[in-house]
This record gives sequence, structure tokens and C-alpha cells, in this order.
Amino acid sequence: MSVAALHQAAARAIAPRKPMRVSDWADKNRVLSQKGSQHVGKWNSRRNPAQIEIMDCFSTRSTVRDVVAILPIQFGKSEIETNILGYRMCEDPGPIMVTFPGEVSMNKWIDQKLNPLIESTPAVARVLTSTASRESSNRRHFKDFDGGQLYIEHAGNPVRLKSTSVRDTICDEFSSFANLLRGGDDPEALLDGRNSGFPNTYKRIKVGTPEVAGLCRLTQLWEKSDKRLYHFACPDCSHEQHFEWSGLHWPPDATRCWYVCRECGVVIEEHQKTHLIADGRWIPTGDPDARIRGYQANCLYYPLGLGPRWLDLVHMWRDAQSDPGKLKTFVNDRLAEAWEDPAMRAVKHNVIADRVEPYRLRLAPAGVLVATAGVDTQDNRLAVVILGWGRGMVCWVLDYVELDGDPAEPEVWAKLTDLLNRPIEHEWGGLLQVDAVAIDAGGHRTEDVKHFVRQRRVRRPMCIFGAVPNNAPVLTKAKLQDVNYRGKLDKNGVHIHHVGTVGIKHRLYSWLSADADREPAARQVHLSEELDHAFLGGLVSETYNPSKNRFEKKRGAPRNEPLDCWVYGYAAAHHQDLRLHRFSKANWDAREARLREGTRNLVGDSRGTLPDAANDEAADSRGTHVEKAPRRLTVRAALDLVLTAVDRAPIQPVATGLIEEMRVAVGGTSDERQLLEVVLDQVADSPGPVAALLDRSLLDNIRNVLGVGATPLRAAVQQRRSRRGMRSGGIR
Ligand SMILES: [Zn+2]
Repeated sequence: MSVAALHQAAARAIAPRKPMRVSDWADKNRVLSQKGSQHVGKWNSRRNPAQIEIMDCFSTRSTVRDVVAILPIQFGKSEIETNILGYRMCEDPGPIMVTFPGEVSMNKWIDQKLNPLIESTPAVARVLTSTASRESSNRRHFKDFDGGQLYIEHAGNPVRLKSTSVRDTICDEFSSFANLLRGGDDPEALLDGRNSGFPNTYKRIKVGTPEVAGLCRLTQLWEKSDKRLYHFACPDCSHEQHFEWSGLHWPPDATRCWYVCRECGVVIEEHQKTHLIADGRWIPTGDPDARIRGYQANCLYYPLGLGPRWLDLVHMWRDAQSDPGKLKTFVNDRLAEAWEDPAMRAVKHNVIADRVEPYRLRLAPAGVLVATAGVDTQDNRLAVVILGWGRGMVCWVLDYVELDGDPAEPEVWAKLTDLLNRPIEHEWGGLLQVDAVAIDAGGHRTEDVKHFVRQRRVRRPMCIFGAVPNNAPVLTKAKLQDVNYRGKLDKNGVHIHHVGTVGIKHRLYSWLSADADREPAARQVHLSEELDHAFLGGLVSETYNPSKNRFEKKRGAPRNEPLDCWVYGYAAAHHQDLRLHRFSKANWDAREARLREGTRNLVGDSRGTLPDAANDEAADSRGTHVEKAPRRLTVRAALDLVLTAVDRAPIQPVATGLIEEMRVAVGGTSDERQLLEVVLDQVADSPGPVAALLDRSLLDNIRNVLGVGATPLRAAVQQRRSRRGMRSGGIR
């Protein structure tokens, strides 16, 4: 006998007892009481064989550290948890924590699972009774036992979740944990952090039924796991496979049902499943080397006598077909799959990124007749989207810019004024002004937004808040909020609107979803190829959660400002003086005539000759897109692009391709052409940041030449207001 073997033999001889598996421990010790279980008496792991391997990940000898188990309701999830808990307390003691999404589910578990476990399983009672200070330490949410402590916590109390250091974590209904806890912590990071004191010995399991796709924590963990599915061998061809809902068949009257082997097509009756499952095994279907063990099973695996039979499930399924709420419940609770709203399927970043169209930001394509803007207010920036609207509320995203600066300071508002007052060139040759802008006043900068709106430095500014009710209209009627020195409402003060964000998001997503099958020319929402990942991903960063009846940010999605901005820009189109959604053909015709009129004026005036596109589009009045050669940049548009480049990314150099285009820009007055030459001189040979190359006075000159100073507009607004005042006695 070698020395090593001698050591091994000696170690075995002095070992207190042979480590057993969780399932063996449960078979030996666990007694089910009437209080919490359907079946009374000794636990038998063979009754639901799929549970065995999941539990045994917590055996002392197992090297598995992280487990995710996605299981249908009535599958004995809490029995798995209770067996693991009892085993760890008796066989491998250490600090252990059991967590729940809320206080209610926690208390239910204590009454229905933990207390019966202690009362009717003597092995567990023994490790508890041997503690000296039984009276004080056996509180409801904390148990002291031989060699360890048991903490029972819920996510509604982040302070307690944070404070405990444990070796084992058992996490129940993990998908129901809040997205963010009070205090801003991510519950998953918080829970995993509890194990940091036990880097090599920790074990944790997260169990539950899934939720909405994109929001569900369990599904996200599952994606990172080795994805074990429970396989059985076909009684006829021996092909190993897992039970899938799509493999279940029934006649139209659904009086019976049967399963069909995926390989040979043989019929498998439900009564056969007991044997098939008993002889089955978990097989990884994902990366076999994944750090996380993943287990997923659906309702077809219910052992006979524990849970509904196949035919009952077929009836539930048929019953749910006409009701999205019921269907979601069936998919989550019975199939143990994440629910995906059919309308959301096409609203994904990769799907809409394939749908961008070759038009330039800040150059309105044919069909755009009105522009509005939406502004999202953050503590360190303003995010701005400019939307173009055409007949039938067809939408083009014309620009998206994030303006750096704290809205509590005037600088960023000056940038916004400049951006919104700078007209956008139209493919037909005219200029398009932003006609209304909705600015989010929620958050920390409410007074600054009101101040900006009061100043009326841009056309139709609106101070808006997200409405609380889910069924709120797109835009509520204006409510006066400012009070004058006599305590009366000041009629010239700020009007507050509420925006029905939930309804608008449904609208946007149903449009994007319907666009999936349409040719570019027939789409409702047009996206420029110049929009980047942050915008496109941000636009579809949320998904609808039918059980909460609201939109929630998808896990891991980019920032959602582009979506919020779009929502506000859409609301701005409903401004009481615009009401684009009520536009008649005559209204649109008038807008188009005005745009084309502008074109003719421009062609005729001192600004110089405009490119051909101004004329050859005349026949194209229905907004349909005609393939044609790319349009040459005008001098005016080039200068506009320079100003936007400074706002958009001050530290980026101007792209070489853009400089080449600017060199051959057409049209423009002599002032405009001169300025562009100066710009080109400064940026052409220097790769440095655009903001550093172009000094303030040059930029101001460009602003003046483009005629975007705030003064003339403000004067026009004043004039209009006094006219209106005379006509209506000041009452709007
Ligand atoms: Zn077969």
C-alpha cells in the first residue's frame, strides 16, 4: 500500500461520516407533514426524478457552485429548496440565506415549509435544539444551529440583504425580484456579493418560473448556463429527446392527447412517461463548460398524480388562446418559458438596425412636411430628437443629439435654442423649421425647464410630465401653473401638459413591428443609416410587461433616452396649434405648398442657385420615394452640419469623407461660401477635435449667417401674442 493510499484510508477511518447526497439525505430524514405538503409521510426522491440532480448540486462532494432552475408551478420547487436547506444544516453546516422577492412570499414559506420542516423532520430539529441559547436565537427570520446560522430575508429590505455574509444562498422566485431595489442596488449583484467571504466554497441556487422576455432575470442567467434539459429515450427508437409542448398532439375536440417522438413519430401515451422519466437524465444543450448549471423543465414532466395531466393542460392551453393575459400565464407558469409579446418580436435592436435607410440626418427626405422635437432632461445633458412628419403621420427621425451640460446652467439651453431654431434643409430644396418641442420636466430640473419654456425662444415649447395612468391620452390639455404676484394664475405663465407615455410606446412599437414586413417606401417609421447603436438600441430598449401593464427597460439594453425623446416628439406633434394627427389632406397640401414656395423663393433670391433636386421632385407629391442619384450637399447644409458636429461630438474630428463633400458643396450666398472656406481651411488638414479647431466667434458667425438667431423669432412670437390678445381679450 502506497503512502498516499495509507493517508486516504486513515482519512476515511477518522472521517465523522460518509458525505451523502442531498437526495439520499432527504430520503433518509425528510418527513412531510400535513401542513405544507400534498403527500404526507416519508419523502421519496424517486417520485419526481428530475428533482434529484438539481438538489444534488448542493451535496458536499459536488463541485457545482451556481445553479439556475427554471421550473413550472406545482413542480416541487420549494421542496427542492427545503431539502437543500435541511441537508446543509445537518450535513454541511455554515451560514446560509434563503431569500424571497417580498415579505408575503417569505412569510408563506416560513409557515408552510420551514416550520413544518423543523417540526416533522427530527434531524433538523436536533441541530436546532442543541443550541444553548434557543429562546433568543430562534427568532422567526433567524435560526442558530450547530455550526451555522440561517437567515431568511426578502428583497423589500435591501439593508438586511446587504448586511449578511453567507456561504450558501437559496433564492426563491428569482424572476419576481424587483429590477432595482430601493436605494438603486441590483438585487442580483447584491445577493451574489453576500458570498464574497466564501470564494471557493460558496453555493447558490436561483429558482423560479420565468417572466417577460427581455426583463426576466432567470432567462438571462439561463442563457449563460449549460442549459440542461431532461431527456428520455424513445420507447421505440431509443432516440434521446426532451418533452416539448409542440410535440403534444390532440384532435379538434381535444378529448384525448398523445406525444409524438421527434425522431420516429411513434405515439407515446402519458402513462408511459413515468418509466421514461425514471430512466431519463439531464443533458446539457448549451456550453458544457459553462460556469453556471442550468435546469429547465416544463409541465409535461409533472409526475402522474402531482400536478395536472396532459389533457388538462391541453384544455388550459386552448382556453388561453383568446386571452393574451392567460396565454402569458400558461407560457410562464406551465411551459416555464419567458413570455414574448408578439408585437415585441420585431422590435429588437438587431431587427431595426437592418432597416435603416440611406438618408442623411438633418436633411429632410421627400415626404417630410412638418418637424417636431422631443427633449429628455438629464442632470448633465439634454437629449434631443427631431422628428419629421408626413401624410398619414409617417415619421422620419431627422436628428438625434445629446447636448452636454447641466440644465441648471444656461449654456446647454443656449445650445438647445440654437439647435431647434436652425432650419433643416429639405430634399425639395426648402427649409424646414421645428414647429413644436416637448421638454420633459420630470426629474431634478423642473424649474429650469419651466424657465426655458417661459422664455419662448423656440417655437411652441411645451413643459411636459409623463402621465401616471396607463390609459392617459397622448397629450392632456394645458394647465396653467404659474401664479402672479396677486396669487392668481398668470395667463402668460407656463402651461403644463401630461404625456401618455405608455400609449405612445405601444404606438411606436406597433408601427415598428408592422414595418418589419414592408418595403422601405411603405414604412411608417423611417430611420437614417447615420443613427448609431446608442440610438437604435435605445429606441427599442423597453418591452411591455403585461402583468404590470407598463413598459420596462430590458436588462442590459442601452440608455432609453432615444425612446423617451421619440415619445415627447410624438406628443409635440399633438400640440394644440398643430394637431398633426387631425390634419386633413388640405392641411398637408398647404404645408407642402409652403415648403415648395420656400424653394422657389430661395431659387429666385440672392442665395444663389440650388441643386437640380429642387425641381425634379415636383411631381412626387405623395411622398413616395423615387430612386435617384445622391443629392449634392448645399453650402448651407454643410455649415449646418459643422454646427451640429460641434454639438454632437465636440472632441471628434470632422470625418474626411464629409470634408470632401463640403469642398464640392453647391449653392449658397457669398457670405455662406466664404464662411465654409474658412471652416474647411481650419479643419481640412488638422485631425484634432472639431470644437478646438473652430473658435466661438467663427461659430457665431455661421449661426448669424444661417439666420437662426433667437431674436427675430422671439419678436415674431411677441407680435402674434399681442395680436391674439386684442382679438380674444387675452383668453386662449
Ligand atoms: Zn422514436
